Amino acid sequence: MSVVEFVRAKIVLLGEPGVGKTSLRRKWMGESLTNFYQPTTGADFCVKRVRMSIDGADYLIQFLVWDIGGQEEFARIRHLYYSGAVGALIVYDVTRPETFYVLPKWIEEFLTYVGGFRPFVLIGNKIDLRAKRPEGCVTTEQGRQYAEILSRHFKFPIPLIETSAVTGENVDFAFRYLGVQVVKYIRSLKMLRKRSIVR
Ligand code: GDP
Ligand code: MG
Repeated sequence: MSVVEFVRAKIVLLGEPGVGKTSLRRKWMGESLTNFYQPTTGADFCVKRVRMSIDGADYLIQFLVWDIGGQEEFARIRHLYYSGAVGALIVYDVTRPETFYVLPKWIEEFLTYVGGFRPFVLIGNKIDLRAKRPEGCVTTEQGRQYAEILSRHFKFPIPLIETSAVTGENVDFAFRYLGVQVVKYIRSLKMLRKRSIVR
């Protein structure tokens, strides 16, 4: 008989409008992709349960994936959006470098609203377009260098994962990777708690 630990993980999708947050979520949830840009209003959230084995232990992770819509709405509901989040996918569009250069703003906002460090993953999306026309795009190397700087700074592995919400490349991997990081993070907190009880 195997023991499965249940973990509920609220995660948020962050990044500039149009980078592909909603498309990534839909792809992962198995909904069809729209080909039009339709800025959603307010936050959508959806649920997906995934079973994972992490360091030999079995987990059932219930992802609550929050997806923000229009910018104007965002200002008012920001705190609700972030409340209780234990992880984030912070997304940029590899074909628009300006969405990459503003990542520090999103990271700072995330950590400020959730009240300290939480695991996050950098997502360079739309790599199908870069494959066709690489000029002027953010390179894998640039993304990776930034991820390394962040990992050193936070003393926690922050990976760069490059995705395409159109072909589906790495989409499942990105969400699952974040799931693993979230479980490790929660586990490290529990260990800290145990240790302070012993003391
Ligand atoms: P959001 O504002 O961040 O939620 O971005 P959306 O998911 O609405 O996507 C904005 C636009 O980019 C839409 O037209 C999508 O179809 C398109 N898009 C999203 N991801 C990709 C991708 O990986 N490749 C390509 N070629 N287009 C994408
Ligand atoms: Mg959206």
